[in-house]
Amino acid sequence: MATFSVRFWGVRGSLATSAPGYAAVGGNTSCVEIRAGDRLIILDAGTGLFQLGQTLVQPARATFFISHYHWDHIQGFPFFRPAYAAANRFTLYGPGKGELGLKAALARQMEAPHFPVTLAAMHAQLDFRSIESGEGVSVGPVRVRALALNHPQGCLGYRISFAGRSVVYATDTEHIAPGVGDPGTSELARNADLLIYDSQYTDDEYYGRGCAARQGFGHSTIEEACRLARAADVKQLAIFHHDPSHDDAYIEELTEEAHALFPNLVVAREGLSIDLLRLHALRAQAA
Ligand SMILES: [Zn+2]
Ligand SMILES: [Zn+2]
Repeated sequence: MATFSVRFWGVRGSLATSAPGYAAVGGNTSCVEIRAGDRLIILDAGTGLFQLGQTLVQPARATFFISHYHWDHIQGFPFFRPAYAAANRFTLYGPGKGELGLKAALARQMEAPHFPVTLAAMHAQLDFRSIESGEGVSVGPVRVRALALNHPQGCLGYRISFAGRSVVYATDTEHIAPGVGDPGTSELARNADLLIYDSQYTDDEYYGRGCAARQGFGHSTIEEACRLARAADVKQLAIFHHDPSHDDAYIEELTEEAHALFPNLVVAREGLSIDLLRLHALRAQAA
């Protein structure tokens, strides 16, 4: 029996958040586990990566796809314990090359004065690879395609396809105009089974209705997530990269309103698993 599932370990944007009232959605930053057949794919290395790492047993194998190197997407890597054990092997893909590339970004956050242990202390076999917008790579039978998203200093979105299903990871992206998604997300998301999308703000926050506007910060809104999911004919939408100021109660309130825009919407929260094969089976039954 094939497996194709998604599990959320970190769903928060910008800053890890811990306070009463945030526990249901969770406070860790971006980290998503994908199981496809016998392959483990890890999307981003935010603080959620620590707990994911605790579940792996030696000899562990996984392939990382890092969207970009803003702190909330890499800060968990120094605390990924399996990377310190020589028995483990990890392949890591990320955008950019040289000083702006993956290895340099991960090494830098582990250097003085930021961190006491350097990347050299990680004794697992770490294979760093560059991936660019428009490129596709295979992880065994899994196909991963990358496209640039609309985010300051760049970000890659990924479409992961396996067993005739697909999940799209589009965090940290800003729509172009009301109802106009960024071209990368719009292309990746077309007919996807699951779209995980940057829903950091509400439209009111984004346009500064009653507060300071957030346009140009590189993030999108819950309402835009719904519009994009509808336009791209996405089957299931998971709103993701929640603003650190949005507590559980507020996210629940926003979600109720958003359901009217796109009914097949779920809040990405820590511990949530989505079985992509079952999702399809449920749909076939309902049809
Ligand atoms: Zn982010
Ligand atoms: Zn970012």
